[in-house]
Amino acid sequence: MFASASTLRKLWEDSFSDLPFEVVYKQDILRQGIAFAEEAFRGQNYKTKDYFIFTFDRVPLSDMALGENWKAPEEIRISGGPHGLLPTVISVRINPESPYKVGVNTDHILSLFYSGEEIASVEFPPIPEYYKQNYPNLDKPIGEVAPVIEWGYLIYLTVFRNCQYFGKEEECQYCDINHNWRQQKKTGRPYTGVKSIEQILEALSGIDQYDSTAKAYTITGGSVVTELKGKNEADFYLEYAAAINAKFPGRWISKIVTQAWEMEDLLRAKDAGVQIYHPNYEVWSPELFPKICPGKERFIGRDTWIRRVIDSAKVFGPENVIPNFVAGVEMAQPVGYREVDEAVASSLEGVDYFMSHGISPRFTTWLPEPFTPLGQSEPAPLEYYLKLLRGYRDIHASYRLPVPPGYGEPGPGKAVFSVSAFMDVLPAG
Ligand code: SF4
Repeated sequence: MFASASTLRKLWEDSFSDLPFEVVYKQDILRQGIAFAEEAFRGQNYKTKDYFIFTFDRVPLSDMALGENWKAPEEIRISGGPHGLLPTVISVRINPESPYKVGVNTDHILSLFYSGEEIASVEFPPIPEYYKQNYPNLDKPIGEVAPVIEWGYLIYLTVFRNCQYFGKEEECQYCDINHNWRQQKKTGRPYTGVKSIEQILEALSGIDQYDSTAKAYTITGGSVVTELKGKNEADFYLEYAAAINAKFPGRWISKIVTQAWEMEDLLRAKDAGVQIYHPNYEVWSPELFPKICPGKERFIGRDTWIRRVIDSAKVFGPENVIPNFVAGVEMAQPVGYREVDEAVASSLEGVDYFMSHGISPRFTTWLPEPFTPLGQSEPAPLEYYLKLLRGYRDIHASYRLPVPPGYGEPGPGKAVFSVSAFMDVLPAG
C-alpha cells in the first residue's frame, strides 16, 4: 500500500506518465477492493451488485458488517478530484479494509477517499429501465436472470452457476464460482443453478423493448466436463446461443465463454450465431498453467488449449477470438513469480504470441478471493499492472491490431470495461 495519494501520483510521474493517470487508481482499486461508508448507501437509487458469476470480493459475505453484499453498487465511476480525472468505470470488489473508501465529503457529495484524503467524485450506476418492468413469467428478479454490467453495456448471462472442475484438485486456484454459489445460497440470494432458455428469452424481450444501452451479451458459466441436463458442454451452451440468435437476430453482439473447443464445435458455435469467442487461457507460463488451472490441464492440456485458440481464429476471424488471462495470478504465492518483471515478461510473451496470430487477448484483474486456494496470497503489486498495461498497449500497436470488438469505445474517459484497464489504455477512436 502507498502512504498517500501523492505517493501514488509520484510513482506515476516518475515511471508511468505515458499511461493515463486514471488507470493507476483503477488497477489499484481492482487489485485490492474497495470499502464503503454507511452514508454512501443512503438516499440514492442505483444498480446494486448482482454477483453475476464470482464474488470478486476480498472478504467472505459473512464479514460484511454493513450488508455491503446487498447494498454496494455494481460499479463506481470516478471523475474530477485534484487531478481532474476523466470518468473511469471500476468494478466493485468489497474489502472493508481497503485504503480506498467511498463516502460523502463535507458538501455531502459522494466521493472517493484514499487513506482519508479525497481524490475523486463518485457516481453509482443507474438502474436500467428494463430492471423496473414486471416479468410475469420470471420466477427470479431480472437482476438474477439477465444482469447488466459495464455501465449498462454488457448483458451477462451466467446460465450455469457452478463449474464441473470441482474441488481443490480441479478448480482454477483463483476462482470462487462454486464458493460463490454456496455463500449466496446461504444469504438467501435467489440464485438459479441452471437458467432455463425460456426465462432468458423472456428477460431479453424486456431488454429488447426497454433498453438501448446494452450492446452485447455473454453466455457463460462453469465448465461442463461430463454432462449437464444430459448434454455435453457444446450442446448445452449452444442451445442458448441458437435460441437467442433465432429470436433476436443481430440485436446484440453475441459472445460466449467456454473451454477451448475443437473445430467441429467451433463451426457449430458459428452456425448458432456466436460472433465473439472467449476460450480463456488464464495464465500463460507453462510451469504455472498446470498448477493454477489443474482442471484445464487435466481435461484438455495447455498445448491443446493454445492450439485450439489459434484454430478458432479460422472460424470466427482472429479479431473475434478474445481469450482472457487473469492478470496478476502468476504472482500468487506460494506458487507464482516473486519478481514483477519476470511475471510481466511471462504474460507479455503470451500476449505477443497470440497477437502475432492476430488474436488480442484481454485481461481481468486478479483479486485473492478468500475461499480459493490462492486466497491467502497478497494481490500482485500495482507496478505489475502498470508495466503490463504498457506492454499490452505497445504490442497491440506494433501488430496494428484493431480494438477488440464487444467492449464499447476505448480510451481514457470512454472505456466501460470495468474489471481491468486494458480498454482505457488503447487509443480513443
Ligand atoms: S473453468 Fe476455472 S475459471 Fe472457469 S468457472 Fe471453472 S474453475 Fe472457474
